[in-house]
Amino acid sequence: ACVKQEQSLTTTNSTNPPSEKGSVRVAVRVRPLNSVEKSSCGKSCVTVQPPDTVILGKDKSFTFDYVFGPEKGQSEVYEQVVRPLVDGIFMGYHACLFAYGQTGAGKTYTMGTTWYKGSISTNHGMIPRVINDIFERAKSEMTAYDISIRVSFIEIYNEDIHDLLKFYPSSGNVLLNSNQKIGIREDEFGNVCVTGVHEEPVQSYEEAMACIESGSLHRATAAHDMNQQSSRSHAIFTIIFTKSEKGQEGIASKVTSQFQLVDLAGSERAKRTNASGARLKEGISINVSLLALMEVISVLGDEQKKGSHVPYRRSKLTRILTNSLGGNSRTAMIACISPSDDSFQETLNTLKYAHRARNIENRPVVNQD
Ligand code: ADP
Repeated sequence: ACVKQEQSLTTTNSTNPPSEKGSVRVAVRVRPLNSVEKSSCGKSCVTVQPPDTVILGKDKSFTFDYVFGPEKGQSEVYEQVVRPLVDGIFMGYHACLFAYGQTGAGKTYTMGTTWYKGSISTNHGMIPRVINDIFERAKSEMTAYDISIRVSFIEIYNEDIHDLLKFYPSSGNVLLNSNQKIGIREDEFGNVCVTGVHEEPVQSYEEAMACIESGSLHRATAAHDMNQQSSRSHAIFTIIFTKSEKGQEGIASKVTSQFQLVDLAGSERAKRTNASGARLKEGISINVSLLALMEVISVLGDEQKKGSHVPYRRSKLTRILTNSLGGNSRTAMIACISPSDDSFQETLNTLKYAHRARNIENRPVVNQD
């Protein structure tokens, strides 16, 4: 697996394009009120002011790159926020998309790791759409280029990395894999990779979706007070895309890009979930990694902090995302929020977090009725 991984490390070569201005695009997505919320209070405490402002309560206004109200579907989010990242992959950039927010706010729905069946339809989230788009475009480029696609799927739980494709049927030697130690390694170009993780070569949308389905079933979930199915781990699905001109041998013609799609663990504060013991430990490691992620993206996005130390090493999450968050990458965050009054404080925390990730000036509140 380490040798295979080394191939994916050939990311800094002459054919990859130069860095783009490295700031993170931040979108906020408000999910619809669910039936329980509708019957208990029925009112939303979130107002969307298109195209880019969201107001919480009466006067807490935040401006982002994009704001999607509850009526906006998966395809609109994809077209505006995610498609440019796929464009980048074909040009040799890395990409990173993550969904942030409290449990139940719509991260998994948005990323699309639970909706596997059939070709793309209204409910399919970002990961199936990315995969579909990559294969569609690859088809049209296959006469001129050799294209290969591999996927991996891991989760980070309590700062331990688990391979969600470890027992995938074609992962070869299950026994060998189960004893293999997963690690994080840096090569001489500064590329960071996870070693000891299965990378599945995939030839079609269906084959890639089968990996998601299998991996999602393995994802560690633990019941806690807020949501029985709440995921307390960060899940990272990685697409490794290699393109080289037909008939050209050697590394110079080869471009390898990776797209990391991250469904982050719920951002809710431990206190709110009445956590103790193991749950509290989970909560602390989640908070540490989310804070580290914030620090990394705010340093990278702040022109004035250019050249400052980037604290990638503060958590496994930021370490693993090093390549995707750095200069040669397009990154977007979708902050998911609930419109319900009950979630006011958590929604405020999410908006503050997302806002810090992107240094955009807030607009004054208008049309408050
Ligand atoms: P999280 O992953 O943040 O814990 P989920 O994605 O599981 O939250 O969403 C909680 C519930 O809300 C699910 O039943 C999901 O289908 C629904 N939901 C979330 N976002 C939307 C949306 N934009 N439109 C329709 N239903 C949604």
